Amino acid sequence: MKTCTKCDVQYAEESEAFAKNVRATDGLQAHCKKCMSKANKDRREKAKVAANAEKARAKRQAYMRDYNEKYRKANHSHKLDLTQQWRVRQAGGVVVEEVDRAIVLYRAEGVCQAERCNKVITLETMHLDHIKSVASGGEHSYANTQALCGPCNLAKGSG
Ligand SMILES: [Zn+2]
Ligand SMILES: [Zn+2]
Repeated sequence: MKTCTKCDVQYAEESEAFAKNVRATDGLQAHCKKCMSKANKDRREKAKVAANAEKARAKRQAYMRDYNEKYRKANHSHKLDLTQQWRVRQAGGVVVEEVDRAIVLYRAEGVCQAERCNKVITLETMHLDHIKSVASGGEHSYANTQALCGPCNLAKGSG
């Protein structure tokens, strides 16, 4: 008779239910075979999920690098920032430097930077947000900007 310390199931045929462990006093593992194989399966599953996530991230980054390059060449980023800079100055804010949206988005790895949002955003859908709002003295700079999705930016209020 032996009880698995993991699932608490009591086994009569302990040598069948538990794998050998020469270092244990009773010569058997503390976890039953069922629990051990489930743990192994969970580990493999987790590794697979992590590998897939990494693959997706790499793919997204490669796509963005290519896309940002084209975007910058077309001068969109510069024009958009000139508009943004004008708005900042209108609101009485300080423009420290030109902020390239493509760089901000790249820095964000292509996802909304709001806590727990993680939505995938593109240069078309991203909102360039001033972390500390311009109205309360936030500067237009890389240090004070982040990429947000539309809903998160609206939820935050005017940036
Ligand atoms: Zn068990
Ligand atoms: Zn968001």
